[in-house]
Amino acid sequence: MIGIVGGGIAGLSAAYRLQQQGYETRVFEANDDLGGLAAVYETAGDPIEKFYHHLSKSEETIIQLAEELGLGEAIEWRIGKNAYYIDDEVHPMDKPWEILSFPHWSLYDKFRLGMLTLDIDVRGGAPKFDTYEQLDDFEDVPVEQFAREHTTQNVYETFFEPLLDAKFGDRKQDVSAAWLLGRIKFRGERDILKGEVLGYLDGGFGRLLDALVEAVGRENIETGMRVTGIQDKDGQVTKLTAQDESGESTYDVDNAIVAAMPNVLEELTGYTCNIDFQGSVCSVISMQDRLMDTYWLNIADKAPFGALIEHTNFVSPDRYDGEHLLYVARYIQSPEENVWQQDDDEIRETWLNGIESLFPSFDRETVNWVQTARNPRTAPVYERGYLDMVIPYDLSEQIANGIYYAGMASRTQYPERSLNGGIEAGFECASLINEQLTINK
Ligand SMILES: Cc1cc2nc3c(=O)[nH]c(=O)nc-3n(C[C@H](O)[C@H](O)[C@H](O)COP(=O)(O)OP(=O)(O)OC[C@H]3O[C@@H](n4cnc5c(N)ncnc54)[C@H](O)[C@@H]3O)c2cc1C
Repeated sequence: MIGIVGGGIAGLSAAYRLQQQGYETRVFEANDDLGGLAAVYETAGDPIEKFYHHLSKSEETIIQLAEELGLGEAIEWRIGKNAYYIDDEVHPMDKPWEILSFPHWSLYDKFRLGMLTLDIDVRGGAPKFDTYEQLDDFEDVPVEQFAREHTTQNVYETFFEPLLDAKFGDRKQDVSAAWLLGRIKFRGERDILKGEVLGYLDGGFGRLLDALVEAVGRENIETGMRVTGIQDKDGQVTKLTAQDESGESTYDVDNAIVAAMPNVLEELTGYTCNIDFQGSVCSVISMQDRLMDTYWLNIADKAPFGALIEHTNFVSPDRYDGEHLLYVARYIQSPEENVWQQDDDEIRETWLNGIESLFPSFDRETVNWVQTARNPRTAPVYERGYLDMVIPYDLSEQIANGIYYAGMASRTQYPERSLNGGIEAGFECASLINEQLTINK
C-alpha cells in the first residue's frame, strides 16, 4: 500500500493519480476536514475558501484535472480588477490609461516599469531582450537592489516596497530578484481594455476537492488521523503509524508520500529543510453592501492588513445569497505579532477599525458575520538561494527507498505557491512511484 500524509490538494491529487494507475493508496489527514489550505466555509449560498483563491491562465494542470473530473465547464474566467490605495485614495491599476494617469509616477517612472513588465532591459540606453531570460541569474540578487536598478527609486518606494512589506514584512530584504521576475512572468493573461483575467470554479474550489475525494473513494481516506511516524528497515520504508482519538495504528506500506509542510517531513523522518515559512491571518467578512468596486486592493498607506480582496467583485454576490464577501488578510512573520496573538473578536475589531480608517463611509453595522482562519505556515519566504533548499520529490538517497515529498517546499510551488503547484507535486510523486514500481516488477 502507498500511504499519503496529508489530505490537501497535493495528497489527494497523488492518491488520485496512483489509483488510476492501479495502486492501493490510503490518505491520512490530521484534521477532521479535508482540503488543507484550500478548505472552505459554508455560506448561505456556495461554500467559500477560508483563504482567497483564484487561478491564472498559465496554470494548465489544474484545468486538465478539472476536465478529467468532469468540472471543465465549471471553470470561469473573469476579470479581477486591481487597485492601489495610496495617500487616502484608491487608484484603479488595470488599464493602460489608468496606469498612465497614476499621479505618483513621472512619465519616466511609468516607462521603466512598463519595460520591466515587458521583459525589456533598457539600462544603459540600448534595449536588451534576453537579460531576464534565465531566472537563475537573479537567484542571489536582492529584490530591493534589482527593483531600484531596473525601474526607478520612486517606483521602488511607491510601489514595490509597500507590496514587499505586505507580502514579506521584515523579511523583504532576504527575497531574491528571481522571485520577482518569476512572478512577473507567471502572471496570466490580461485583457488590455478590461484588466487581468483570473479563473474561479463555479461553486468554489471545494468542488474540485469533493470530486477528487469521490474519485479516490472516501473509504481510502482517513480524517482525524495524524501520521506520527514512518519506519524503514534496511533502507526501505515499511510501516507508517497514525493516531486518532482511539489510539495509534500501524499500517504496512511500501511507499509513503509526505504531502504536507516540511516541518511534518522533519518530524516524521528527520529530514531538515531550511526554507522559512510565514503564517497568515485571513478573515472573510460578510457585508450587506459592497465596500469598493475592486477585487484586489493593495495598500501603501498604514493599515493593519496587507490587502483587501472583495471576492464578490470577482464572483457575483448572487452566488452567496446576496451577501458581499470581503477577505481581509495579513501575513505573519513572527508569533510575537499583535494580530497573531489576537482572538477572533479582537481581530474583528482590528480589521473593522482598519477598514473604517481607509473607507470612512464604511458602516460596521452592515457586517453580517466574520470568520477567521489562521495558519502558522501558509507561504514560503522566497529568499535568495531558495531553489537550493527545495525538497526533492524522491528522498530515497536522503532518507530511505519509498519516501517521497509533495508539499509546499516542492519545486512546483515556485515562484508562487498554488493549487496547480500542489497538484503537480502530487502528480510528480505518483509518476516517480509508478516508474519505480514498474521497474521492480
Ligand atoms: C492566503 C492564501 C492565499 C492563497 N491563494 C491562492 C490562489 O489564489 N491560488 C492558488 O492556486 N493557490 C493559492 N494558495 C495556495 C494553495 O492554497 C496551496 O498551495 C495549496 O492548497 C497547498 O496544498 P498542499 O496539499 O500542498 O498543502 P496543505 O493544503 O497545507 O495540505 C497539507 C495537509 O496535511 C495535513 N497534515 C499535516 N501534518 C499531518 C500529519 N502528521 N498527518 C496527517 N496529515 C497531516 C494538514 O492538516 C493539511 O490538511 C493560497 C494559500 C493561502 C494560504
